Amino acid sequence: MYFTKSFIPILKNNPTEAKIKSHQLMLRIGMIKQSSAGIYSWLPLGFKVMKKIEQIVREEQNRIGVQEILMPTIQSSDIWKESGRYEDYGEEMLRIKDRQNREMLYGPTNEELVTEIFRSSIKSYKSLPQLLYHIQWKFRDELRPRFGIMRCREFYMKDAYSFDLNDEEALFSYNKFFLSYLKTFKRLELSAIPMAADTGPIGGNLSHEFVILAETGESKIYTDKRIFEVNSDNTKLEKKSLSVLRNKFEEFYAVTDEKYNEKDFMEKVNDKYRLNTKGIEVGHIFYFGDKYSKPMNASVDFKGQKQFVKMGSYGIGVSRLVGAIIEAKYDDKNEIMKWPISVAPYECVIIPAITKNDDSNLVKANKVSNLLNDKNIDIIIDDTDENFSAKMKKFNLIGIPFQILIGKNTEGDLLEFREIGKESQKLKINQIIEIINSKKK
Ligand code: ATP
Ligand code: MG
Repeated sequence: MYFTKSFIPILKNNPTEAKIKSHQLMLRIGMIKQSSAGIYSWLPLGFKVMKKIEQIVREEQNRIGVQEILMPTIQSSDIWKESGRYEDYGEEMLRIKDRQNREMLYGPTNEELVTEIFRSSIKSYKSLPQLLYHIQWKFRDELRPRFGIMRCREFYMKDAYSFDLNDEEALFSYNKFFLSYLKTFKRLELSAIPMAADTGPIGGNLSHEFVILAETGESKIYTDKRIFEVNSDNTKLEKKSLSVLRNKFEEFYAVTDEKYNEKDFMEKVNDKYRLNTKGIEVGHIFYFGDKYSKPMNASVDFKGQKQFVKMGSYGIGVSRLVGAIIEAKYDDKNEIMKWPISVAPYECVIIPAITKNDDSNLVKANKVSNLLNDKNIDIIIDDTDENFSAKMKKFNLIGIPFQILIGKNTEGDLLEFREIGKESQKLKINQIIEIINSKKK
C-alpha cells in the first residue's frame, strides 16, 4: 500500500475535544471518525486493528471449544418480557417500532436471545455443555458517552454463553473462560487482572472483571501487587487444573470499587503490596445459574426429570480493546505508538527519502516491498515527498512496529532497519524477513 493512496487522514495536532491519549491518537491518525455522539465509523487503520483483535479473540474462544454463531442486532421485545428485563433495563436500551407497530430493540446484550435459541433445539442433558459465542455490534444508550470508543453507544463485543446441567459443570465452563481470557489478553500483550466484581441482585453468584491498569481507566481497583506474578502457563483444560488456577488468583485481594471494603484491604494486604489505582475493564465473566433459564423455561431432560440449565455469560469489549492497547502502549510524551505486531495495522513501513527530482529511493522501496510481500509481510510505503524527519514523526505516531529507511545510509544490499523506538541496524533483506517473521509467532 502506498501512503498517498491510503485513507489515513492524519491531523497536524492533537484534537482538543479528546481528553485521554487513546482518543487523541485514534482521531489524530485517522483510525475512527465520529458520526454522532458515541457512534463512530471505523476507518482503514482502526478497522484493521480491530479485526486483528477480533481474530485473536475468536481463536482463543475456539480453542476451548466454544462454537461461533451470529445473532442479529435487532431483537423482538417478546423474549425480554419473558425474562422480565424489558422493564428493568431502562433507558440504556434503544427501543424501536417496526412498520407493523411491533416493539423491537437494538440488542444491548444477548442472554434472552441465546436462551431462546438454546431451548428451541436442545432437549437432552447429553447435549450439554453447550458453549456458544458471537461477535457483534451492541447498542447501549449510555448517559455520558465519552473517551471515544472506550465508552460509546455502539460498540463491538464478543459475548459467549454457557449452558450446563448443574453447578459443578457450570463452574467448569466458567473456569474455561477464565483461563481463555488470560490467554487472550496475554496474546494482546496486555496484563489483565481478574478481579472479583459485583454480582448484582442475585446472591451467591460469581463474577470477575478483567482489568488492565491505566491512569485514565474508569474502574477504581484495589489489589495485592503479587497477583501480577500468578502464572497460568501450564494450566490444563480440565476441572482440577482450572480450579487450582482460579484459587491461585483468588488468594490475592483484587476488587473493583463496588466490592471494596477498606478494613479488608488493610487487613488482608500488607502495605508493601497494596495497590490502589485505576483500570480499564476489558472483559467480564458472570455465572448466574438459572436466572434466565427458569423464567424462559430452558430445561433439559435428565433421566426422566426436567432440569433448568445453569448459565453463564462472558463478554470481551473488542472495540474497547483498541483503545485499551493504546492506553497501555502509547508514549504520548515522545509521541511514539508501539502496536504489538499481532494487531498492528501494518507490520512494516518502508520510508524512502524522495525529492521532486529524484525518486530512485522509491524504486528501491518498491523492490524491497515486493520481496517482503512474497513472505506475507504486510507493508506500507511512504511515497510522499515530505522531508525525512516529518515522515519519521508521522510513522512514530502511527506505530508500525518495524521500519526500513531508504536514504543516504543505504549501501548496496544493506538496508537501514529498526524496531520502532530503537536504534537502527544495517541488515540484508533476508535477515529483516527473519526478524519480522520470528516476532510474528
Ligand atoms: P461497564 O462497567 O464498563 O459499563 P459493563 O459491565 O456494562 O461495562 P458488560 O456487559 O460486562 O459491560 O460488557 C462486556 C464488555 O463490553 C465490557 O467488559 C467492556 O469491555 C465492553 N463494554 C461495555 N460497555 C461498553 C461501552 N459503552 N463502550 C465500549 N465497550 C463497552
Ligand atoms: Mg462489567
